[in-house]
Amino acid sequence: MIYPGQLLKEKQIYAGKEMGQNFLSNPETARMIVDRTGIDRHTRVLEIGPGLGALTIPIAKITRHLTVVEKDRRLIPLLTQVLESHEIDWVRVVNQDFLKTDIAALAQGQKLVVMGNLPYNISSQILFQLIRARDSVGSAFLMFQKELADRILATPGNKAYSRLSAVSQYAADIRRLVNIGPGAFFPKPAVDSTVLSFDFFSSRSFSPDMEQQLFTVIKAAFSKRRKSLKNSLVGPDLGLDKPTIAQALKSADIAPERRAETLSVKEFETLTRAVEPFLI
Ligand code: SAM
Repeated sequence: MIYPGQLLKEKQIYAGKEMGQNFLSNPETARMIVDRTGIDRHTRVLEIGPGLGALTIPIAKITRHLTVVEKDRRLIPLLTQVLESHEIDWVRVVNQDFLKTDIAALAQGQKLVVMGNLPYNISSQILFQLIRARDSVGSAFLMFQKELADRILATPGNKAYSRLSAVSQYAADIRRLVNIGPGAFFPKPAVDSTVLSFDFFSSRSFSPDMEQQLFTVIKAAFSKRRKSLKNSLVGPDLGLDKPTIAQALKSADIAPERRAETLSVKEFETLTRAVEPFLI
């Protein structure tokens, strides 16, 4: 293992906060994460933000079907050097912003397993992107700031239950794989990290259009989370007035005084079916 601190110093590259660069510097931790994913030599893996290859190396030792997408151009020659030092020449390295990556094009009709120690500043965006592209993604193993992972896992009635929890739990069965302390990284982050596994549901309860409505209803409801649904749902997201919202809540059998944070994913689905006839 080439240690990230040493390699970055040699090349006079500074880890950038704006790209969420906290590199795993403990090879045992990296191996343990990859072992827990259960991938095998047939698994087609897409890694987000390989950095200096901490996860890439143990993944590439299991499967040769590996594509990695790294935004920071400065890291590409270092990653190549690390891969060469392990005599690995089968990894497809793409220098690109993952947020602009066409996942379906990379998948070519097959299901990918997505992995990544995510740049924390854009991890929610990446999760929404994977949810949208889940026809091409069977499962994902992603490292988040622990606080965000707790929000993703939070259930109704919990203060941390949010738009991200409801949308993620609609799309996948989510589990906590492992918590990791700051000592496993260089530079050390100020926060703990958590790896979550996402097993995306293969069947869908909604058509793509209805799913979009569901996400809009969830967004609207949480946009004013301290207000009751009869007020929070009124506004630009859905474009519906108070009497219409009251009628939709009644037909969904949801008390108008309830707040978004008390609604289960199933109730959001029922509410979407009730709201849908009023949407143009
Ligand atoms: N996987 C490496 C590890 O575990 O040591 C690096 C993890 S580091 C937390 C996040 C990585 O994502 C960095 O290499 C960073 O340059 C890269 N990155 C940041 N923004 C990105 C983006 N929009 N698309 C692709 N990679 C990105």
